[in-house]
Amino acid sequence: MRYFSLNNTNNVVDFREATLQGQAPDGGLYYPENIPVWNDNFIGNLKRKSKSEIGFEIMAPYVGNTIPENELHRIIAETLDFDFPLQPISENIYSLELFHGPTLAFKDVGARFLSRCMGFFAGKLAKKIVVLVATSGDTGGAVADAFHNISGTEVIILYPSGKVSPVQEKQLTALGGNIHALEIEGDFDDCQKLVKMAFLDEELRKRVMLTSSNSINVARWLPQQIYYALALTQWEEHHDPVIAVPSGNFGNLSAGLVAKQSGLPIDHFIAACNANDVFTAYTQSGNYHPRSAVPTLSNAMDVGNPSNFSRILALFQHDHQRLCEAISSISVSDVDTLSTIKEVYAEFQYTLDPHAAVAYNALKDHLKDHAGQKGIILGTAHPVKFPSVVQEAIGHRPSVPENLGLLMKKNKSARLTPPEYASFKATVMDILKNI
Ligand SMILES: *Cc1c(COP(=O)(O)O)cnc(C)c1O
Repeated sequence: MRYFSLNNTNNVVDFREATLQGQAPDGGLYYPENIPVWNDNFIGNLKRKSKSEIGFEIMAPYVGNTIPENELHRIIAETLDFDFPLQPISENIYSLELFHGPTLAFKDVGARFLSRCMGFFAGKLAKKIVVLVATSGDTGGAVADAFHNISGTEVIILYPSGKVSPVQEKQLTALGGNIHALEIEGDFDDCQKLVKMAFLDEELRKRVMLTSSNSINVARWLPQQIYYALALTQWEEHHDPVIAVPSGNFGNLSAGLVAKQSGLPIDHFIAACNANDVFTAYTQSGNYHPRSAVPTLSNAMDVGNPSNFSRILALFQHDHQRLCEAISSISVSDVDTLSTIKEVYAEFQYTLDPHAAVAYNALKDHLKDHAGQKGIILGTAHPVKFPSVVQEAIGHRPSVPENLGLLMKKNKSARLTPPEYASFKATVMDILKNI
């Protein structure tokens, strides 16, 4: 498989290059030259296959000959080393719980696959790999955990000061070793902007092998297809499911769209958004107007300019009508997010985190007009990661799993950094001096 840059289709690389570079040098996102069509045999036998077999068959064409088969088997097995249960909530809504991994969020899947591919590629490189990552909360924790102690790699994480939860902040700042946290005095869009500028900085690029681990990286983006297939292995209903995806940068949703294009039987997608509704507005008007993010209760979705938007356009060849046939988008307010958590808990004794609550509300709304259909929400994070929101909704905090208790006792270590490029770069240079 080869990948071209969405900014310039002449810039073509293999999986190894795309993974190491993250973003193309021209600032574009890498995109696969063709999307494999899975044969009927694969789809028909999905329920008889193991997690690892499914993961391997989905990823092998994307990886091509850049990683030997036995290594890829190991990487897949390590990536999927936890459960992906499809839990019924109500009569017509299920939750695919993606939060049973080490940092209790779906991003563990992409981050673990990426870190292990990176570790494999690092073995043959002269320069250190430096992973630069902007996080609105969950990305950083997943990346930190996934890369911790992977030799040949250093990770620099940027997160918006005061805008991540205490659990998230500890996951970013308490590991030490090859994981370095920068607390940026700004919002997530500032963090993302700094990362984008760093990638265009020749001096930095000469010094180290600079790469990203946001969902712009194909090795984080593409493995997210796997759990859509794992959901289907547990789907016993007659109709193909409608899947509601809590969306921020749209990496998760666009991976699901790729899986559907390859043949996975999914009826329809719902892009569930909070007040950051540029995509919802785009589906309604055909016009895309990125803007600054506004803070909400589902803060991992506080994104004003979703980085995977260009991939979604590419998937539908910029055909607005076809895109709207495949995806509906609904924007859900904080008030409705809270009341959804409350109602679902009261009615079904199921605790939603604020992101899943946005998806639940959007899916319930959609199903009202589509009698007979049933759907799946993606449970993108464990409710314990957002204790104060959950408490506000249901009156008590979710109980803390034991390993999280240990984490909370560790010390925070982060460098407070202004959101200007010059100060940011000075901090990065200082970190590089010491590695
Ligand atoms: C990152 C994140 C999202 C948004 O995912 P995207 O792939 O950026 O759209 C949703 N929910 C949670 C809990 C997240 O951490």
